[in-house]
Amino acid sequence: MFTLKATGRNFVQSPKHSALCMTMADVEAESSTQPEAMEEENPLFSNLDLFLFTLIAGLIIYWFMSRKKAEPIPEFKKLDQPAPSTRETSFIEKMKKTGRNIVVFYGSQTGTGEEFANRLSKDAQRYGMKGMAADPEEYDMSELSRLAEIGNSLAIFCMATYGEGDPTDNAQDFYDWLQETDGELDGVNYTVFALGNKTYEHYNAMGAYVDKRLEELGAKRVFDLGMGDDDGNLEEDFVTWREQFWPAMCEHFGVEASGEDSSIRQYELKEHNDINMNKVYTGELGRLKSFETQKPPFDAKNPFLAPVTVNRKLNKAGDRHLMHLEVDITGSKIRYESGDHVAVYPTNDTAIVNRLGQILGVDLDSVISLNNLDEESNKKHPFPCPTTYRTALTHYLDIIHPPRTNVLYELAQYATDPKDQENMRKMASSAPEGKALYQSFVLEDNRNILAILEDLPSLRPPIDHLCELMPRLQARYYSIASSSKVHPNSIHICAVLVEYTTKTGRLTKGVATTWLKNKLVADNGHKSTVPMYIRKSQFRLPFKASNPVIMVGPGTGIAPFMGFIQERGWLKEQGKEVGETVLYCGCRHKKEDYLYQGELEEAEKMGVITKLNVAFSRDQEQKVYVQHLLRTNKEDLWRQIHTDNAHIYICGDARNMARDVQTAFYEIAEELGGMTRTQAIDYIKKLMTKGRYSQDVWS
Ligand code: NAP
Repeated sequence: MFTLKATGRNFVQSPKHSALCMTMADVEAESSTQPEAMEEENPLFSNLDLFLFTLIAGLIIYWFMSRKKAEPIPEFKKLDQPAPSTRETSFIEKMKKTGRNIVVFYGSQTGTGEEFANRLSKDAQRYGMKGMAADPEEYDMSELSRLAEIGNSLAIFCMATYGEGDPTDNAQDFYDWLQETDGELDGVNYTVFALGNKTYEHYNAMGAYVDKRLEELGAKRVFDLGMGDDDGNLEEDFVTWREQFWPAMCEHFGVEASGEDSSIRQYELKEHNDINMNKVYTGELGRLKSFETQKPPFDAKNPFLAPVTVNRKLNKAGDRHLMHLEVDITGSKIRYESGDHVAVYPTNDTAIVNRLGQILGVDLDSVISLNNLDEESNKKHPFPCPTTYRTALTHYLDIIHPPRTNVLYELAQYATDPKDQENMRKMASSAPEGKALYQSFVLEDNRNILAILEDLPSLRPPIDHLCELMPRLQARYYSIASSSKVHPNSIHICAVLVEYTTKTGRLTKGVATTWLKNKLVADNGHKSTVPMYIRKSQFRLPFKASNPVIMVGPGTGIAPFMGFIQERGWLKEQGKEVGETVLYCGCRHKKEDYLYQGELEEAEKMGVITKLNVAFSRDQEQKVYVQHLLRTNKEDLWRQIHTDNAHIYICGDARNMARDVQTAFYEIAEELGGMTRTQAIDYIKKLMTKGRYSQDVWS
């Protein structure tokens, strides 16, 4: 071993002249200068043999050395030094150490699942139990079988379903483990609350799977699966489930509610009066100063600040604002594929932030930290701290969505008018009167926290408690409207400005689209930037370019198809055989909002789009939608699908359009394939399973 290392070091230390650095030309030159000597002495090994032997030996040693270098630190060092991360990956040990008996795992993409998990874990105190919310990504989930080691224990799962029946990113490993494991979960008590949206095909698939799979593995379901529907009233579904769940648990564990409410602070306020401002977060999501010194790889915790190079209005007329943006990813090492999503982190409207500061009478520029009172928690702060209230309200907190009932419940204590206090508490209960009040006062009237403070003048909570309770501002996803084959260094976005007036007469603007609209290419001499990262999707062009593609995307649903069309054009330019490329898109009026008209007509002229079908819904008395055009072209469509193996793609509104389009495909299969409705449904389902019917839909 020692000899090998020593020899190896020689090779590695003099690379310029070592055999390792020789090219084939060097080898040829050396061998051609030696033939005479070889013939005279007739040695056992020729120079070439010796050289090749040395080269091979050198390579082996080099490989061995570099492998050695990558080896982990020897055991004894590990014992002497503290582990680099203080994170506990054993939730069982943590529960035992901190006397907890309930663990609430969450699969959460937009933060709601996590919020629900926190609420349930806090609730436990009311029943003399102790809970902890836990991200399955941070713990070793194979330890679930050990939960029975803790007396009166319970695992609750708040599981959201994402995309086409998929687990959320943070629950992916847990899902894989559930699928693979055949471990025994005997003695493990559990219940599941599923979060999803009924407009999607695979409603609450993830929650239902976890519920079923845990039972199969031998765990005991102690309370029925809860189903939360975001298309209806997710908050109400959760509150109703929770109100029934806790009494059932009391009975199960033989405990009684203490009567104490759950208004207990989770974080304590620390004001920093004399802090070095270099230590203060200004909107970064992970590493401090990561917006000043950007380092790849870029992801959800470390977004890339992409300069905006184009921001133009797409519609020629009408009172809406449809926009096309291009952001530059040069030097970021970010890669994307057509069909992926770009996630952007918007900021809240400055006017709303200022108004909140004013109404609560606080200096928004005070530097603060909110520190978790539970020192064992992996989550030290609700958002990056230290920071200012202004940064928290601008970058980190969602102040625009109508607040959930638990926020109202906890804030009620600060309302000096008993009537306001009573109403706020009532709204958080599952009593029909309370539910109706929450539905009308908060949801239907679309009141955000500012509107609530304006309309309830007796309610003036301390801002730090408000900041503790508000959910995190989430990244927004857009279907990428470009192809990396044509635009490797830029990402295109197509979006429509969201703007509406609420029943109380307040003009409400979509957080992300308003922010995007204001991202001018040059802003006061500075380049506007967008914090972004890529989220991979399953929405992919067929592997074989010769397969036909049928794309259906009215309105901004055209976005991913701009990428697909660019890519098919590029493939054609490369001399590839490209199958039929058929587009069904739509808008309200040809003269107003025909998105990308020039580009689409040009692509058709060049033969990249083989058939362009546009539904102008409002240019005649009767509405014309994409599904009407699908029916008109049914014979062609059936041939493309049934005979030519076409891939179908739908993008846009999930609630109505995607369903209506799917129905049109059922009808075509019935009529031209001679199928019953059940057979037609089955036929489309099979296409979905084979990846030949894909949807990228939003509700
Ligand atoms: P829009 O302009 O309001 O609608 C586009 C066209 O679709 C209009 O002609 C509209 O007709 C028609 N339409 C209405 N109901 C329909 C139905 N049931 N079936 C077929 N067509 C129908 O659309 P938009 O404002 O762009 O929004 C479209 C949707 O796509 C939104 O839900 C958006 O969130 C989503 N989306 C956005 C992105 C993105 O990256 N920005 C990506 C994918 C999807 P009428 O209005 O005349 O009835």
